Amino acid sequence: MPSHSNQAGQPTDNSQFTRDEGSTDHWISGSCHCQAVKFRCRVPQQPELINCNCSVCAPLAYLHWLVPDKDFELICGHYNLSEYRFNTGQARHWFCSTCGIKSFYRPRSHPDHFSINARCLDKPDWQQWPRIRFDGENWEDNIQHLK
Ligand SMILES: [Zn+2]
Repeated sequence: MPSHSNQAGQPTDNSQFTRDEGSTDHWISGSCHCQAVKFRCRVPQQPELINCNCSVCAPLAYLHWLVPDKDFELICGHYNLSEYRFNTGQARHWFCSTCGIKSFYRPRSHPDHFSINARCLDKPDWQQWPRIRFDGENWEDNIQHLK
């Protein structure tokens, strides 16, 4: 994800991460397929999506929307989530143990955010949001561009 720029046009550093700046009071809900897992998220003024080609995102066609913890609410389904971890084990990949759908997870790159699968949102608003390509197949080389 590109860095935000300050008034002088310089990229801001990671400690000034401001993705949630411009939050609105607009919430959008989402769920897994069987509706056991439901959540809602606050939509910022300029939401954007990330398309990742890594070994776990590509087969799912997972379309990331990074939402800070404070803008995410799990409505129901906590006890229906199963967890899958691999490689460094830092990312917590959750999926519904009934229908198998991965509607959100805790990404390794942003431990204070949830990554929502935009395809699991109830409304099609996300289809208009800009998409960024992330070369997650070469995660170590590229992750600094996402922060
Ligand atoms: Zn389900």
